[in-house]
Amino acid sequence: MKFKVDKELCIGCAACEGVCPQVFEMRDDDKAHVIIDTISAELEESALEAEESCPVEAISHE
Ligand code: SF4
Repeated sequence: MKFKVDKELCIGCAACEGVCPQVFEMRDDDKAHVIIDTISAELEESALEAEESCPVEAISHE
């Protein structure tokens, strides 16, 4: 499973990083960045939770 953040939509609230810091990291541009390319099975649930926590639905996965 791969996640991505739409930088146009991201408002920099850091909710995703709060839920799943292993996958999402806030950077100097005040946007969330995905720091793992392919998410392991153990992290999937937490990464999906982070996706759900995003108030502007900027996170998607495939
Ligand atoms: S939860 Fe959504 S809006 Fe907030 S930092 Fe993460 S991607 Fe951006």
